[in-house]
Amino acid sequence: MRYPKLRELKEAVKALLKGPYTSKFPSQPHQPFERFRGRPYFHEKDCMGCTACFQVCPARAIEYEDRVLNGRARRKFTLRWDICVFCGLCQANCPTEKGIMLSQEFALATTEDREALKQEIEKELLVCGCCAEPIVPVEQYGWVAKKIGPLLFSNSSLTLSYLREAGLAPREGLFPKKEMEFQRADRIKIICPRCRREAVLKS
Ligand code: SF4
Ligand code: SF4
Repeated sequence: MRYPKLRELKEAVKALLKGPYTSKFPSQPHQPFERFRGRPYFHEKDCMGCTACFQVCPARAIEYEDRVLNGRARRKFTLRWDICVFCGLCQANCPTEKGIMLSQEFALATTEDREALKQEIEKELLVCGCCAEPIVPVEQYGWVAKKIGPLLFSNSSLTLSYLREAGLAPREGLFPKKEMEFQRADRIKIICPRCRREAVLKS
């Protein structure tokens, strides 16, 4: 005959005194443990649109697309809860630490179309003043500017973007694609790294 081990006996006595570990969900609401990893949410105010969460997501539950619509360049993120495996890597790698956070929500079952199991957010993009391609989200430039402080004035794109956000430089709409040769003046525009290289070499 096999006798129960001491550890098992201790657990049995604890369960007798404290009651079972299991909850009565769904007949009674269930409160998950503090560090439970449930449904993730983008927190739009704290997200700068950098795509780090997209890059680390092992399930490809986060997608993004850059597009120009009605004269505005936007980056659209889609977070698919039907694909998410709740690993928490997105939250752990978000540079702002609050742009995407896992909640304690665990009851995701639905009879609706699974396409409805998603969250979408959009971020405004800066566009290259020469080739008209989207560069980075406006908020990402702002975040970098705050991080590096006065060093931002060593980069003309960052400087101009910072001055615009502060209301000290005019905001311009989307630029048409530049057809002419690069000129010196192009170096003090908001431009992408490829055009900056061309402007420096050819002007
Ligand atoms: S700021 Fe955070 S949540 Fe937003 S795109 Fe970057 S990593 Fe994702
Ligand atoms: S919790 Fe994991 S699987 Fe879900 S969105 Fe974040 S990184 Fe992707």
